[in-house]
Amino acid sequence: MSSIQRTKKIGLVDCNSFYVSCERLFNPRIRKKPVVVLSNNDGCIISRSNEAKALGIKMGEPYFKAKDIIVKNKVEVFSSNYSLYGDLSRRVMRTLKRFNTEIEVYSIDEAFIDLSNFPDSEVEKVGREIRETVLQWTGIPTSIGIAKTKTLSKVANHIAKKKQSGVTSLIGIENLDPILEKVEINDIWGVGRQLTKFYQKNGMQKQLQFSFEPVLFKETMVIIQMLKQLIFLLQQTIVLKLLRLRLQY
Ligand SMILES: [Mg+2]
Repeated sequence: MSSIQRTKKIGLVDCNSFYVSCERLFNPRIRKKPVVVLSNNDGCIISRSNEAKALGIKMGEPYFKAKDIIVKNKVEVFSSNYSLYGDLSRRVMRTLKRFNTEIEVYSIDEAFIDLSNFPDSEVEKVGREIRETVLQWTGIPTSIGIAKTKTLSKVANHIAKKKQSGVTSLIGIENLDPILEKVEINDIWGVGRQLTKFYQKNGMQKQLQFSFEPVLFKETMVIIQMLKQLIFLLQQTIVLKLLRLRLQY
């Protein structure tokens, strides 16, 4: 019998602070400085260097709100330059295609790659090779998370971001609970602010409840929410009926 494991191995390649990294490529002066990039019309902060994150500048924060911190700490500020980011994104994706793996471009700075053809013991090494090649050929630093599902690869990527090597594989780990317990719910792919609030309200703060694909989970949650609303409406109707009955007396 073949001992080759046929499990899926999905890698999520995510460019680190992508827009900031693009600006830094052509501006070596700002390599070690706190940097932010602003959205269209310079409204909000849409990319932050690690130094800017450390200052407490939040993702999506309106520029005027962060202005005090920015001025005080001499943070370098850039208007977004989408033609530059698009060009560098294509270079990164082209580099990934060179590895003969199936690739699904997920956003301007993220792509899923299928690493199922590599043995379990080698995926992390392959991830490091991919990361080094992308850095060498494009100048863009990335993090790579590898796992059995897309959602878990996002979790792995989150862990990889904090590691020097920039690569984390969850392949072959039997019990993922201790790892999932440490990840906050709003760090997960596909979970926005509103949904986070909803999960938290329902006592689901941690990733542990999310080891499966979020699409199905989201749909289930929408159905539960609809049912809850329906029950609420029914309750209201009953209360109103009772009130009317009482008023009749
Ligand atoms: Mg990114």
